[in-house]
Amino acid sequence: MAEIYDVIVIGGGPAGYVAAIRASQLGLKTACVEKWINKQDKPALGGTCLNVGCIPSKALLESTELYETACHQFKDLGINVGEVTLDVPRMIERKDQVVMELTGGIAMLFKQNGVDWLQGEGQLLADRQVKVTALDGKETVYDSKNVVIATGSVPIDLSVTPLNGDIVVESAGALDWESVPGSVCVIGAGVIGLELGSVWRRMGSRVVLLEAMDTFLPMVDKAIAREAQRAFTKQGLDIRLSTRVMGSKVNHGKVAVTFKDGEGDHEETFDKLIVAVGRRAFTDNVCSSEADVLQDERGLFHVNEFCETNVPHVYAIGDVVRGPMLAHKGSEEGVMVAERIAGEESSVNYDVMPNVIYTHPEVAWVGKTEEQVKSEGIDYQVGSFPFAASGRAKAKGDTTGMVKIVRDRKSDRILGAHIIGPSASELLAQTVLAMEFDATTEDIAHTIHAHPTLSEAVHEAALSADGRAIHIGNRKRG
Ligand code: FAD
Ligand code: AMP
Repeated sequence: MAEIYDVIVIGGGPAGYVAAIRASQLGLKTACVEKWINKQDKPALGGTCLNVGCIPSKALLESTELYETACHQFKDLGINVGEVTLDVPRMIERKDQVVMELTGGIAMLFKQNGVDWLQGEGQLLADRQVKVTALDGKETVYDSKNVVIATGSVPIDLSVTPLNGDIVVESAGALDWESVPGSVCVIGAGVIGLELGSVWRRMGSRVVLLEAMDTFLPMVDKAIAREAQRAFTKQGLDIRLSTRVMGSKVNHGKVAVTFKDGEGDHEETFDKLIVAVGRRAFTDNVCSSEADVLQDERGLFHVNEFCETNVPHVYAIGDVVRGPMLAHKGSEEGVMVAERIAGEESSVNYDVMPNVIYTHPEVAWVGKTEEQVKSEGIDYQVGSFPFAASGRAKAKGDTTGMVKIVRDRKSDRILGAHIIGPSASELLAQTVLAMEFDATTEDIAHTIHAHPTLSEAVHEAALSADGRAIHIGNRKRG
């Protein structure tokens, strides 16, 4: 029998590695089991987020946004740079460097915090024993007082569109093409589909997104989703709703995609196909049957609000449990679980969970949409402010979008904040903080915002809830 730990975390993504670091900070003897092998054939921490998710996608979004700005906006800003050309292999190489530095950084943090990284595949047995199968096949069983399952998620496959080399890929494959395809079809106009579609459109691909649902971004406030659809379509993304993909066939280096819409069956040929139809919890072989941990029909582990499973001292966090599949949601659950194991009273406020789509304009929201509060019969008011009226947005030449705040009419509490526009992801943070502190729009209205900043749009939206925004005409409010 190998060492006895206070905590073993299975999975080293943003949920698991954060749980492990926090547990160790609290003086608990901690190990983290992680099996990821990266592009360079080396074991790596950081999970989906750092290796093939949040970080590499943002690295490519950054490069391509700058490229597009250089191509289309520099002239207008008074900058002549001559011919702007793309170096896609360098772009990919830079993205890989960012990933390597960050994943290496987690390994360093493990060392500094005294977390043991057990390289290999972990499986929970009965009585909180964890079997680790190392990369060379050697098996070791560890005892632990507590086990945290954080094995994350994987892309959902569509059986009718099987992956095929670098022609039919899921999200990770679309982060590695070294030349610009003439045309790209994306199945699924969700968050990942829109981000990856934007990357390749900016580089010059013709991008078509096929989406089965009849509503664009149904989880987003309607006014914001409408503005997003308009902006993305204007940029050239061909978004087709109510369109269900039925199959694909690879032939002579191209892919023929068959789909059905209101007008019947169609077939269109593309250079590449990205399957971005969502993700599923990854729980294959994570628990032996003797471990007796309950899962639902979708594979998610059953947990309560504190991420406790049905087995005492066994927790599950991140993408393997209910709630949005977001890195920061998993990380906060990791912190909560570590602190509760250490005897602290921690919790996660699931009602104040920020969401972002990192397109341009960015789309960011927290709390309830106007449609949700309406359907719940809440007496509410809306304040909004367009970036077209923001001095800073004008100076940047980036005026698409708005800030919209939904507040409770009587208490003035903020029920939701919805932003589409430049730096929406960063601007959202102040509304998240306000909601976490139970602040009112009056509190935001009282807060001095530096001029000229984009954050003034949040200030003005709060003022507009009372019909007293300065830089737009205000409708009289009842
Ligand atoms: P994961 O990150 O999936 O990590 C789980 C880890 O567990 C993996 O490293 C895996 O190797 C390991 N593992 C699994 N089974 C075992 C086992 N038996 N033994 C040992 N190790 C095991 N979220 C955001 O919040 N913001 C974004 O901008 C964002 N962008 C994204 C872009 C893309 C293209 C994708 C695909 C996802 C994106 N996400 C984003 C989602 C985000 O990546 C996930 O929500 C997040 O990674 C979940 O964290 P996790 O720790 O639960 O799981
Ligand atoms: P998300 O869950 O945000 O990653 O989005 C995935 C999207 O893919 C959802 O909006 C689904 O409706 C969509 N989708 C799933 N299956 C298909 C299909 N066969 N054809 C087109 N769209 C699909």
